[in-house]
Amino acid sequence: MFDLIDLHTHSHHSDGTLAPAQLVALAAQRHVQVLALTDHDTTAGLAEAAAAARDAGMRFISGVEITAGWRGQELHIVGLGVDQENPALKNHLAHLLQLRRSRIAAIGERLRRNSSFRDADPTAAVLASTAVPTRTHVARAIVAQGLAKSTQDAFDRWLGRGCKGHVPQEWPDLASAVAAIRAAGGHAVLAHPHRYKLSSGALGNLCTEFKDCGGSALEVSLPAMSPNDAARLARLARQHALAGSAGSDFHEPGLAWRPLGRFAKLPDGVEPLLARLQDQP
Ligand code: AMP
Ligand code: MN
Ligand code: MN
Ligand code: MN
Repeated sequence: MFDLIDLHTHSHHSDGTLAPAQLVALAAQRHVQVLALTDHDTTAGLAEAAAAARDAGMRFISGVEITAGWRGQELHIVGLGVDQENPALKNHLAHLLQLRRSRIAAIGERLRRNSSFRDADPTAAVLASTAVPTRTHVARAIVAQGLAKSTQDAFDRWLGRGCKGHVPQEWPDLASAVAAIRAAGGHAVLAHPHRYKLSSGALGNLCTEFKDCGGSALEVSLPAMSPNDAARLARLARQHALAGSAGSDFHEPGLAWRPLGRFAKLPDGVEPLLARLQDQP
């Protein structure tokens, strides 16, 4: 029998919409046997998810998806098997949270200069009600105000690069993200490498640096990945002797959830990262 695994998911502690226990319930309904919760820059949902998974008889892996910068590009580094009490990890996440809050406030300042937002700053409620504010929250608030048709439209009109509400952000570097994950006993996974706007040469350099600073794996299996991308990532993992990880990057029901991860179906010659992760109580 195959294990159904999903090592990349979000809850409402970051920009997902489900509570951790609801996420676990949905995963159980979909017969997921091994689940990691990997909220953006926070471990706040892990305790609830772990307890729900224990009740459901599901193996749970404590995770986090850390925002990092590399050559002006924003990267996401998933940490799996992390100890959320580790002080180095906690400090790193606290710093990211500060950066996020000031960025969202700066986005609010920019939007308020526009007549559509003068009396209704969508960032105020986001900052007041969200533990880990992301631009996705702001986009949803703009949609709720009727100033965009969808979150994508909100990015296209207001928040994306070149738009009035765009505020660039420098994130702590790749090495510091990997170091925080490793300090907490976790494995670092380069999330969705095919989604970065990098040439194949640059992606190769990124993999070299990632491995050199202690990275363990690439996400090689995600929903809606083209056969071409899948082959490219499998090749990269093999070339750089990085293990492979798989996950849905689930955020909300209604958007495609594909509990991936028949682990046996990772590409040939790519070692499953799951084999290196210790079972957690
Ligand atoms: P943040 O971490 O606050 O920069 O928010 C990042 C999230 O916003 C990403 O995970 C995406 O889901 C979403 N996002 C960023 N840029 C865009 C874009 N141009 N179009 C749609 N969604 C975007
Ligand atoms: Mn997200
Ligand atoms: Mn991501
Ligand atoms: Mn994600």
